[in-house]
Amino acid sequence: MTARILDGKALAQTIQEEIARAARELKEKHNITPGLATILVGDDPASHIYVKNKGRACEKVGFFSKSIILPQITSQQYLTELIGELNANPAIHGILVQLPLPQHIDENSIINAVHPEKDVDGFHPVNLGKMVLGREDYFLPCTPFGIQMLLARSGIETQGRHVVIVGRSNTVGKPTAIILMQKAAGADATVTVCHSRTKDLPAIIRQGDIVIAAIGRAEFIKADMVKPGAVVIDVGINRIEDFTKKSGYTIVGDVEFEKVKEVASAITPVPGGIGPMTIAMLLFNTLKAAKKTII
Ligand code: NDP
Repeated sequence: MTARILDGKALAQTIQEEIARAARELKEKHNITPGLATILVGDDPASHIYVKNKGRACEKVGFFSKSIILPQITSQQYLTELIGELNANPAIHGILVQLPLPQHIDENSIINAVHPEKDVDGFHPVNLGKMVLGREDYFLPCTPFGIQMLLARSGIETQGRHVVIVGRSNTVGKPTAIILMQKAAGADATVTVCHSRTKDLPAIIRQGDIVIAAIGRAEFIKADMVKPGAVVIDVGINRIEDFTKKSGYTIVGDVEFEKVKEVASAITPVPGGIGPMTIAMLLFNTLKAAKKTII
């Protein structure tokens, strides 16, 4: 059996077209253009690519986008004040601070500085708390939201199924577990979360009807760890040296794609799986934030 490829890039494109239509309607009916501000501190090359892609995606769907790039030496006070200004700016509906921040800046206090109603990344404790409570008046973190959306729109049932998540980060593993265990449509799963201290990890992964890999280790999940017919979602983005490429590297996921696709019933590729879905959900959240300002 060769797995069905879950094309996150194509689905993200469809979702972006829907968002573009909704943005046009918002403009026509209420004269509101959704606005996203992205802040990048320092010169991490991967972060620069992510921020550029997010800005480009905003333009494509007709949003206003403001990209602020600050030097590595930016102080915490300056960044906090800047966020305060963006919180007060009515043209900006969403604020995204690209993580990681330089070590001298306290990430938690910066996340807390973003107004919860502009926290389109869904990392503010108010939004995370509402997510745990299963409320709808909040923003879901973009990558976990993208995973849920991809499963739902690909017709993959989660209700009653055993989802095994490898990784427990606050940005991916943990929120994905909470979202998929909610008593709700597109959720209702039985969830197991694994991490680096989990004993006999392969045996647990093999129990998964749906396996979600958010580890950050190149091709960690092998074919013999996956139950035949399972659905495999690969969140990992790992750069490995590849001198045949102009860039000098290749991007691979946390799953050994070529072998696992012979065992799974469906699988996401890397790139072209969860990455584009994450950006689509950022746009979705920004549109939602803009709609909330309708008087
Ligand atoms: P973190 O490093 O924050 O978390 C990794 C998790 O994997 C931790 O919970 C860790 O366990 C666990 N882990 C590490 N090694 C092992 C192991 N040998 N066995 C079992 N568990 C292990 O990473 P993130 O969650 O931020 O990201 C995960 C991956 O997803 C990365 O490749 C990242 O680049 C990618 N990513 C992709 C996104 C997208 O848009 N597609 C968005 C965000 C991230 P422990 O807690 O015990 O340390």
